[in-house]
Amino acid sequence: KSFEDLGVIDSLCEACTSLGYKTPTAIQTESIPIALSGKDIIGLAETGSGKTAAFALPILQALLEKPQPMFGLVLAPTRELAYQISQQFEALGSLISVKCAVIVGGMDMVPQAIALAKKPHIVVATPGRLMDHLENTKGFSLRQLKYLVMDEADRLLDLDFGPILDKILQVLPRERRTMLFSATMSTKLDNLTRAALQNPVRVSI
Ligand code: AMP
Repeated sequence: KSFEDLGVIDSLCEACTSLGYKTPTAIQTESIPIALSGKDIIGLAETGSGKTAAFALPILQALLEKPQPMFGLVLAPTRELAYQISQQFEALGSLISVKCAVIVGGMDMVPQAIALAKKPHIVVATPGRLMDHLENTKGFSLRQLKYLVMDEADRLLDLDFGPILDKILQVLPRERRTMLFSATMSTKLDNLTRAALQNPVRVSI
């Protein structure tokens, strides 16, 4: 199957080609049609499987249909992963000028607040620093959010982000789509998926 066969629109198929993605990976083949149909997803997949594009492409496609600021939020366990995710969003979204902000700990708050004030389409964040901005950065809110992704959710919980995730979930609109990706499943993760996802489809490779 091609990206086109999965329902991906031309401009994003072109972006895949220019990045050297010839055919979709297994997790992309499974997830993309389900995500494009507007369903929540629990994806069991490891780093290296192509999971980033599996969630980025459907989000970018939905964003193109109805562009708005603060459209998507991706939560990641580490700074490095957050930067990698943002790079893939910008590479896949370059033809449509997607703006991302990376909000991670250990960096100055002020430039991040300025980046948020510029109303990016996509925010990629580690949970602690995102909560800090939600509480302290004037004018920043995620009330318009349409898509939430929790990436490497098992690692998010291992790093004890669970209570912060619960707090973040409380300030997100309930009318949204949610995707959770994890290399492993656990009881703790089941609780998180119940709190965050609605009638999710499970996808594993
Ligand atoms: P990820 O698992 O999302 O971290 O992706 C692993 C690597 O695979 C990244 O460097 C991506 O750029 C690359 N990648 C993602 N999808 C594809 C694809 N369909 N074909 C070739 N490479 C891909």
